[in-house]
Amino acid sequence: MVTTLSGIEELVWERLSLIPDPEIPVISILELGIVRDVHYDGEMLEIIITPTYTGCPAMNLFVAEIKAAMHDQGFDNLKVTTVYSPAWTTDLIPADAMERLKKYGIAPPVKGSDDPFAPPPAIHCPHCGSEHTNLVSQFGATACKSLYTCNDCKEPFEYFKHF
Ligand SMILES: [Zn+2]
Repeated sequence: MVTTLSGIEELVWERLSLIPDPEIPVISILELGIVRDVHYDGEMLEIIITPTYTGCPAMNLFVAEIKAAMHDQGFDNLKVTTVYSPAWTTDLIPADAMERLKKYGIAPPVKGSDDPFAPPPAIHCPHCGSEHTNLVSQFGATACKSLYTCNDCKEPFEYFKHF
């Protein structure tokens, strides 16, 4: 039986790590990096999150999933607070989650040059690893992904844009 406040916060983190990203079920919302902090003062549980990119339609889903999971754990006095700074970035996604993305068929985010006039970074095909890929559409199934095809294996794939 966990009784300390920090012990309860730890359990909350653990539970959050089990919530999959509603759009990419192979990574958790914790790996996605949207949960910034968890506070429990003995009465109220507060979860602090940072939205992914501005206007991400999945944010409402994230909040709904978090609330549902916490209600299941018996936290009825729950507040989800959104903070915008420091901004979310795909650099928060750990390397092993990036590997899982690739196996799932999504090319993971690639950090490009800071120079806005530099050519975009090569996006490798998650199926065969080829860098001979073509951008088909800036927007895939969701705005945070774009659509590519591979010139070698001819397979289409989604690229998780770098933010
Ligand atoms: Zn390929």
